[in-house]
Amino acid sequence: MYDIVIIGAGPAGLSAAVNTSFLKLTSVVIDDTQAGGALIQAYPWKKVDYFGFYEVSGKELAEIFVEHARKNGVEIIEGEEALDIKKLDEGFEVITTKNSYKGKTVVLATGIIGTPRHLNVKGEDLEGIYYYLKDPEGYRGKKVLVVGGGDSAVENATALSLNGAEVYVAHRRDEFRAMVKNQERLFKTNAKIFWNTEVKEFVGNKKVEEVILFNNKTGEEFELEVDNVFIFIGSVLKKEFFQRLGIEMEGNFVKVNKDFMTNIPGVFAIGDITPGIKRISKAVYEGEAVAFSIFKFLKNPYWGKND
Ligand code: NAP
Repeated sequence: MYDIVIIGAGPAGLSAAVNTSFLKLTSVVIDDTQAGGALIQAYPWKKVDYFGFYEVSGKELAEIFVEHARKNGVEIIEGEEALDIKKLDEGFEVITTKNSYKGKTVVLATGIIGTPRHLNVKGEDLEGIYYYLKDPEGYRGKKVLVVGGGDSAVENATALSLNGAEVYVAHRRDEFRAMVKNQERLFKTNAKIFWNTEVKEFVGNKKVEEVILFNNKTGEEFELEVDNVFIFIGSVLKKEFFQRLGIEMEGNFVKVNKDFMTNIPGVFAIGDITPGIKRISKAVYEGEAVAFSIFKFLKNPYWGKND
């Protein structure tokens, strides 16, 4: 029986594990893919500016986080998806695709990056339409459409353009939501931006060949021939997993109290699945904060009542 079973080995889950190790609580971190979270899964190549790290790649930063955790004796299990959490007389049992793990408490740090939002338009299931950019250098000379106006769309469009792709960006508004710094980088590239523009349909025979777009102000429709499409319109929380566990939601987020505890005593949630900005620093902070919350929950220290 671990003190804590942490589901998700991104910055939030790893930070929780490291910080609970300082408090001499035992933990295991389970990840359905590879430890490192969105940093490694969504943008390993991207230069990330995380406080104290100037333009470190997502992969490098993930490796630093993982190494820090391992050096503190954190046990990390990769390639196991958590399917269910059962309440025991004492604590919980987390059932994964391969094993089960018992913990006095559970921390949900699953993130949302694994479930990209879809446009839900005709032809979206054609080949050549992606929701991640694994290799920005792989599209040199290709004509690509990027859909969206947030940091993901703008940063990925910039990377594609700087790596020699012919880039078009379609955004449904006349301004981007992305950080100004990222917008300025995109504006310096050759990417062409279609403002107030949405996708009506993807056309192709097995693979996408053309996109039918429309201007949502004028209603004008136009076609764009493409080799590939990247859709970056945000991510959605896998609500069903949480709802099935009886966890209370707050809109699209998991509802937590000031100790990051959900409505189920002993089950905590941190990172992108809780309300607030989606930033590495928030995930790391919540990992640290939840460690103290769990220490208080399990050990009831004299100082725990005052804050
Ligand atoms: P996001 O910020 O939620 O942006 C999604 C974009 O897609 C928005 O521009 C939105 O348009 C558009 N959109 C949503 N649904 C759409 C639909 N059905 N049809 C057309 N367009 C649609 O998502 P994200 O870019 O993936 O970023 C997620 C979070 O991670 C953000 O908080 C972001 O700041 C953060 N992030 C940060 C960095 C960084 O710091 N470098 C990098 C990546 C992500 P509207 O603007 O009209 O709503």
